[in-house]
Amino acid sequence: MALRFYNTLTQELEVFQPLQDNVVRMYTCGPTVYNFVHIGNFRTFTFQDILRRWLRYRGYTLDHVMNVTDVDDKIIANAARQGKSIEQYTAAYTKAFFEDASALRLQQPENITPATKHIPEMVNAIERLSDKGFTYTNDGSTYFRITSFPDYGKLSHNDFGGIRSGARVDLDEYDKADARDFVLWKARKNGEPYWEAPFGEGRPGWHIECSAMAMSYLGETLDIHAGGVDLIFPHHENEIAQSEAITGKPFARFWLHSEHLQIESQKMSKSLGNFYTLRDLLEMGYQPEAIRYLLASVPYRRKLNFTFEGLKAAAKTIERLRDFELRVTSTKLPAGKNEAITERSADAIRAFEAGLDDDLNTAEGLAAIFDYVRAMNTALDEGTFQEENRWDAARVLEVFDSIFDVLKPTDPAKLPVVQASGNADVLSDAEIENYIEERTQAKKSRNFPRADEIRGLLVEKGIVLEDTKEGVRWKRK
Ligand SMILES: [Zn+2]
Repeated sequence: MALRFYNTLTQELEVFQPLQDNVVRMYTCGPTVYNFVHIGNFRTFTFQDILRRWLRYRGYTLDHVMNVTDVDDKIIANAARQGKSIEQYTAAYTKAFFEDASALRLQQPENITPATKHIPEMVNAIERLSDKGFTYTNDGSTYFRITSFPDYGKLSHNDFGGIRSGARVDLDEYDKADARDFVLWKARKNGEPYWEAPFGEGRPGWHIECSAMAMSYLGETLDIHAGGVDLIFPHHENEIAQSEAITGKPFARFWLHSEHLQIESQKMSKSLGNFYTLRDLLEMGYQPEAIRYLLASVPYRRKLNFTFEGLKAAAKTIERLRDFELRVTSTKLPAGKNEAITERSADAIRAFEAGLDDDLNTAEGLAAIFDYVRAMNTALDEGTFQEENRWDAARVLEVFDSIFDVLKPTDPAKLPVVQASGNADVLSDAEIENYIEERTQAKKSRNFPRADEIRGLLVEKGIVLEDTKEGVRWKRK
């Protein structure tokens, strides 16, 4: 079966292939760095990571651009309140975003583009729109006139037939129900950062950022543009209007959108007290792998109900998979090869691939892996899993983990919250290895009290030791 994605633009599942060669040119809307990024946004970024990894698994090369919005209303207001420049203010949150992304094992896009580094491209795009008659100015600000673009509404599938021309918004935050002419360039205000432009001093609106940067890096027609469903209207609708008004060509061939995340079946909001950043969850002691797993396990077009029960279950699932990995790599097995198991392993990979090819149906992919692990545990119990079948199982786990990336435990000493709070209670991988080495030496010199003492110390810190013929294995509980 060919790789297929649901395209918001056509509202259909379509076979995906890049336009040119083997390279997928993709743009995703990145974070606005005015605060720590919340877990709902990280659902979208995790979906994009799965998308990246699957495209690469399928042999494509990626040219992926993600913007960082480092100038907007909130940033300007917050920076001013703290007496900082917007550069100082956004630098800390930009750094935090990439630390969080790394804790969740999100692959970095090939190009990361801060908006303030690309103002000339935005100015140029606005000039081209003005030359073609799509804009007007009012009080020094430049607006896009949406009645001048008849296709307006084609992505959100809204009928904007009755829109009033001249009703304007010049904020970066929009009422999702109402279509209005949107701001391309906001006139300079006292005390706000501004840039020079032929149409006056000011700063770019949020939408033009993405159009200008996407086209300057990736050309006039992208293969994939992705984001959360909340961006379909007005942000992506406006990106289409701006870009296609300039070029007369389709802006993106495939539009992929991930659904909302709810917390314990409720909308996440500050007022409900259920608003979580990744750091909040890490501080509560949840493993980043469990968070990543939970975010990735629900197919991206379904609403994800994020619960603490679900997080605990995710941690258990990961532990079962790690136990299985340990079992197939370290148990003594009967010599030879069971062909039926080799075949069953290939089937598991095919079923996993079929799930991911089907619009990234991660639930289907996981089901294939769980069925397989269950069957192999039975085969191990019954002694039909043989020495040379180790490689079959290793290959299945490798395929699974090239997408889900949860098998290798995180070194907690490298997590942002531990660094921030200087939590000395957590042992790093290196410290654990040192203790284990010391324990081994103690046993060799028959200093058993010290060996037991070290084991006790590690258990207290949640580290479980297992003495095997091949040496000592350990894992975090
Ligand atoms: Zn965008």
